[in-house]
Amino acid sequence: MRIDVITIFPAMFSPVLNESIIQRAQDAGLLDIRVHDLRAYTHDKRRTVDDRPYGGGPGMVMKPEPLFEAVEAIRPQASAGCTILMSPQGERLTPVLAKKLASMQRLIVVCGRYEGVDDRVREGLADRSVSIGDYVLTGGELPAMVLIDCVARYIGGVIGNEKATEEESFSNGWLEYPQYTRPPEYRGMKVPEVLLSGSHEEIAKWRHKQAVARTQAARPDLVQPKGEEPWTG
Ligand code: SAM
Repeated sequence: MRIDVITIFPAMFSPVLNESIIQRAQDAGLLDIRVHDLRAYTHDKRRTVDDRPYGGGPGMVMKPEPLFEAVEAIRPQASAGCTILMSPQGERLTPVLAKKLASMQRLIVVCGRYEGVDDRVREGLADRSVSIGDYVLTGGELPAMVLIDCVARYIGGVIGNEKATEEESFSNGWLEYPQYTRPPEYRGMKVPEVLLSGSHEEIAKWRHKQAVARTQAARPDLVQPKGEEPWTG
């Protein structure tokens, strides 16, 4: 998959995307991430990307022209892809959306700044707007990196064990069960006996019970997930 990012802060990306699993995915040719400086698509001496909002109000708004020109220069004529505007007003990033995006050949991700982006970008350029949660950050760069990381995990071969994305929090309606590793006892805290028992059936039952109890305690809003079959262990 190829992902193009449009931003006024291109230097923010490499410390995050050039490490660990995402770097390995790029080395393996599974991901091709290209970060573009929006200011390269301006035509004035000061390389202006923002202007005052019509109607008044605090702060500045990102101008439409450089964003349209950038996306149109990057986007091939007939691409099986999606242009995404990062926005706190967009649809929420979920595993379902991430899987859908991971099946595409190309993504273009537009990062807003200031008070946001001229709404004609949402209306006439982006295929969808995506939010990473109900809070407002200073810019779309961190949200874009969250989206890339989340989508990349669903691309075949990126994660060594693909079962990992099937048996984790949110994928089956529940939060994941608690995990333990060696030693069996640490500072007086013991690993639950059942996990040492070797009985796959008992372990599966225990994990399911724990997943349900955790979800009820921490995220009661997930207890009756709409249209999702909870995992039965
Ligand atoms: N004034 C806007 C509003 O109230 O909806 C918020 C603008 S925010 C300060 C600047 C940029 O950060 C946005 O254009 C968007 O690209 C990005 N951003 C901030 N929070 C985000 C979130 N939760 N999800 C996705 N993008 C976000």
